[in-house]
Amino acid sequence: MKIPIVFARRFVAGETADQAIEVVKTLNQEGVKTSLDLLGENVENLQQADAAVQEYRELFDKIAAAGIDSGVSIKLTQLGLDFGLDACLERTSQVLQMAQEKKLFVRIDMEGSHYTQITIDAFLALLKDFDRVGIVLQAYLKRSMQDVANMANHHASVRVCKGAYKESESIAYHSMDEIRAQYKAMVMHLLQAKCAVGIATHDDKLIDWAVAWVEENKIDRSLFEFQMLYGLRRNKAKELVAKGYRVRSYVPYGTHWFPYFYRRLRERKENIFFVLKSLLVD
Ligand SMILES: Cc1cc2nc3c(=O)[nH]c(=O)nc-3n(C[C@H](O)[C@H](O)[C@H](O)COP(=O)(O)OP(=O)(O)OC[C@H]3O[C@@H](n4cnc5c(N)ncnc54)[C@H](O)[C@@H]3O)c2cc1C
Repeated sequence: MKIPIVFARRFVAGETADQAIEVVKTLNQEGVKTSLDLLGENVENLQQADAAVQEYRELFDKIAAAGIDSGVSIKLTQLGLDFGLDACLERTSQVLQMAQEKKLFVRIDMEGSHYTQITIDAFLALLKDFDRVGIVLQAYLKRSMQDVANMANHHASVRVCKGAYKESESIAYHSMDEIRAQYKAMVMHLLQAKCAVGIATHDDKLIDWAVAWVEENKIDRSLFEFQMLYGLRRNKAKELVAKGYRVRSYVPYGTHWFPYFYRRLRERKENIFFVLKSLLVD
C-alpha cells in the first residue's frame, strides 16, 4: 500500500521538481538559499541509477530556467554505489559535469557508516576533475576528526552534521555532550584551515556557540553558512538571515520520501507531533 505524501508534507516539498522549485522560490524571497534533494537511496539496479541521472539533468535545466538560488544534494547509493565504486563514479561524474555546465554546486550527502570510507574515496576521486562539489561529515562518528584533517588538507567544502543513522557505540558517540563537543572541534578545525563549512544543525546550543565563535575569531562570513532542513526552524533561519549570515535550507522532494521521513521522526519525538498537527490543520 502506498502511503500518501500528506503525512510527510511538513518535511518534504512535494513529489515533483516543479513543486519543490515553488518552495525554493518562497525561501529565496526570505533570503534563504537552498539545496534541492531528489529523494532516493539504495537503488535496486543500475537502470534505476541511470533514471536518477536523467532526473538530475531535468532538475538542473529547471533550476537554470527558474533562476533560483539553489544547489543540489545527492546520495551516492542513488547513483549505484551498491554496484561498485566505478559504476557510481561514472554516473556521479555525469551529474557533476551537468552541474558544472550550469555553474551549480553539488553536495554529496553522507549515508550510514557502511558507506563512509567509500563515499570519501569517491569524493576525493571526483575532486580531481570537479570543483563545485562538497561532502558531509558526521560528528557522531568517532573517526570524523581524522576525516576532517584529511578534508582540510584537500581544502574541501564540508557540511558538518551530527549524523542521522543508527550506529553502534563501538564506532559512534551516543551522548549528546560528546557529539556536540566533536561537532565544535570539527567546525573549528575546518574554518581555521579556511575550508568552506556548512554548519548543519537545528540545535540552539550549537548555533549560538557557532555565532559566538565565528565573531570572536573574526571568521569571514563568506566562508561558512548555516544549514537547516526544510520544515524545521524557519523563524531561526529568518533570524540568522536578518543578522547577515548566509543560510541554506535542504529541500527534499520526490516519490521516494519514506526513509528520509522516517529518519526525521526517529531523531526527534516532537516531529511526530508536528506531523499530526499539520494533518489536523490541513
Ligand atoms: C542541512 C542538513 C543536512 C543534513 N545532511 C545529512 C547527511 O548528509 N547525513 C546525515 O547523516 N545527516 C544529515 N543531516 C541530519 C543530521 O545529521 C541530524 O540528524 C539532524 O540535523 C538532527 O540534529 P540537530 O543537530 O539538527 O538537532 P537534534 O539533535 O535533533 O536536536 C538537538 C536540540 O536542538 C533543538 N532543536 C532541534 N530541532 C528543533 C526544532 N525543530 N525546533 C526547535 N528546536 C529544535 C532542541 O533543543 C533539541 O533538543 C542533515 C541535517 C541538516 C540540517
